[in-house]
Amino acid sequence: MSPINLAIVGVGKIVRDQHLPAVAKNADYRLIAAASRHGTVDGIDNFKSIDEMLAAVPAIEAVSLCMPPQYRYEAAEKALSAGKHVFLEKPPGATLSEVADLEALAAARGVSLFASWHSRYAPAVEAAKSFLAGTTIRSMRVIWKEDVRHWHPNQEWIWQAGGLGVFDPGINALSIVTHILPRPVFITAATLEFPENRDAPIAATMTFSDAKGLDLAAEFDWRQTGKQSWDIVAETDAGTMVLSEGGAKLSIDGKLVHEEPEQEYPMLYRRFAEIVKAGKSDVDLAPLRHVADAFMLGRRKFVEAFHD
Ligand code: NAP
Repeated sequence: MSPINLAIVGVGKIVRDQHLPAVAKNADYRLIAAASRHGTVDGIDNFKSIDEMLAAVPAIEAVSLCMPPQYRYEAAEKALSAGKHVFLEKPPGATLSEVADLEALAAARGVSLFASWHSRYAPAVEAAKSFLAGTTIRSMRVIWKEDVRHWHPNQEWIWQAGGLGVFDPGINALSIVTHILPRPVFITAATLEFPENRDAPIAATMTFSDAKGLDLAAEFDWRQTGKQSWDIVAETDAGTMVLSEGGAKLSIDGKLVHEEPEQEYPMLYRRFAEIVKAGKSDVDLAPLRHVADAFMLGRRKFVEAFHD
């Protein structure tokens, strides 16, 4: 099969850090165009908008949409309506309903829609899933604490409604948890802390359970300075499991059992090519549903104003 003619929309941090290197190394793709209001990609045709790009380059077969989630639906609707396969950065949209609409549109147009969750492809995630499948989980704690000033400098959209605030990284934890647990879980209580000058939370705590009464709690915080924490700790009948560094390392009872170089975006692009070739979509909304539930069920606390 000849390579998929790909275009990228929303050329910013994640495109430069991850999409361009991953696509360049994957023979399944030929990157032929980009659309962005300010950003450009060297060596290919660049446009200011997706409309201009789709009109000028009919050879485009697939589009990766990497703008903030609040602006993704409109672009996705245009690309799918034009018969293009679509790769959605995470989170796949600003609401559950708009992504459901895109999924139906992709099916109607006979093209593939990929709601990507990069953290599910972190090196030790599959090993953690296998470990948990062979034991009984007594409790699980998710600790996702990072310094927003370090990781999101000058990003206004994350603080606006629909930008998700601390759930922008927190949804990565939820994408892992929903993948490695043997049964679906649901939120039982949550508290969301909003800076008094912002429309999105800076911290959140949640408890979850499942049909068998699982004891699961999560803490997300963007005010962490010093050591950053992206850890999932489970007490199980087979010992204490620690999936650390955002899914990169797995330890059981303090012994490192799995560590490999990180390959999240190369694996996302491999998966996208696979679903395009198979003529299907891959849209799991569970992580976004939990975020929506946290906003629906959560108590709101107003905390000190946040300034960059
Ligand atoms: P970003 O650099 O702030 O934004 C990406 C690009 O989107 C911007 O450069 C901008 O390009 C375009 N954009 C911004 N506001 C827009 C608007 N109002 N309408 C249309 N386009 C707009 O963000 P990012 O860090 O790359 O993140 C983008 C997405 O990737 C998010 O959903 C994020 O959760 C996800 N992601 C980010 C990371 C990370 O480490 N940064 C990691 C994994 C996933 P133009 O101004 O040129 O149009």
